Amino acid sequence: MNGKGGSIAGLALTALKSNFTSLERPYKLNFSVTYNCQSRCLTCNIWEIRPKDELTLEEIRKFTEKNNYFKWITITGGEPFLRSDMADIAKAFIENCKDLYIITIPTNSLCNIDMVKRKVIEVLDTGVPRLVITVSLDGYRELHDKIRGIPGNFDKAMENYRMLQEIKRDHPNLDMVFGYTISKFNSGQFEKTFNSVKEVFPNVTYNDFHINLAQTSETYYKNANLSISPIGNGTSEELSEIYSKRMRMYDPMHLVENAFLKKLIEFAKEGKTPVKCRSLDASLFLDGWGNVYPSIMWNRKIGNIREVDYDLSKLWHNGEAEGVRKAIKNGSEPNEWTSCEAYQSLTGNILKIL
Ligand code: SF4
Repeated sequence: MNGKGGSIAGLALTALKSNFTSLERPYKLNFSVTYNCQSRCLTCNIWEIRPKDELTLEEIRKFTEKNNYFKWITITGGEPFLRSDMADIAKAFIENCKDLYIITIPTNSLCNIDMVKRKVIEVLDTGVPRLVITVSLDGYRELHDKIRGIPGNFDKAMENYRMLQEIKRDHPNLDMVFGYTISKFNSGQFEKTFNSVKEVFPNVTYNDFHINLAQTSETYYKNANLSISPIGNGTSEELSEIYSKRMRMYDPMHLVENAFLKKLIEFAKEGKTPVKCRSLDASLFLDGWGNVYPSIMWNRKIGNIREVDYDLSKLWHNGEAEGVRKAIKNGSEPNEWTSCEAYQSLTGNILKIL
């Protein structure tokens, strides 16, 4: 396989189109390929699940054949690289979704580094236009290891990042970023974390970090019982500081990421979704068992792809899906601002980022 895939222009055009009309089908898929995870995060309960009967590679292949229009796919977990067929899953999407431009994959850096390297190269060698690996990092050495519950996790994240930098030398279609989630456990600690990373990677900049806020979700993180929110702990001030540092080194390539961060400041102040949600229009969340939800944060299942022979179009306009769209129209969707959904919301409300 050596597919050319889609283009950023194709993705941008679809996102622009979504400003003016409802889309015929979604262009962004958020897919949790497994709930297995070897981490012990204080912010998430996924690691307590021992999942059984998750979608097989054959089932995922069928799904990619019948729904071959995605331009952007986030393959998430648990820890996605715990699936031995992780590269084949990505390849099934690349093979069938001819307009696919970008795949993003987060990792907790706890898998065998040589295995991850092999799988990343395998995916890159398909010719996928862009693969972005997000290396989770929630603090400086002691803090990250404490939040993640795994001694040595910080050092493994650094090793993983270095390995990805090395791959990038021969694979310009790879990008990597640190994924920093602010929770009540690390609020106010970004600068110290940034400096600790700079000791390892002197050229690292604020643009090498993607910032999220810890949020609760019954559907995805299974953490509705946890008190983890940093809201009200000076978080909006911390985010404003990060934002202004990013803007000092302004890079137009980070337009949407900067817009996401700016709106995250609003979300941290008010706890309200800052831009109209585009779930079940531009995007959806598919869990490891084939259940389809509007988003990772919204516990409102519209069906299961196993019950419709893996054909999403058979669920897309059912009564439950239309009910979700009506709720969004009425403004009664849950408040959320996560990277899984926010980019589609921003690019589908373009005036908010200009
Ligand atoms: S946040 Fe990620 S790494 Fe941590 S337990 Fe949840 S799925 Fe695993």
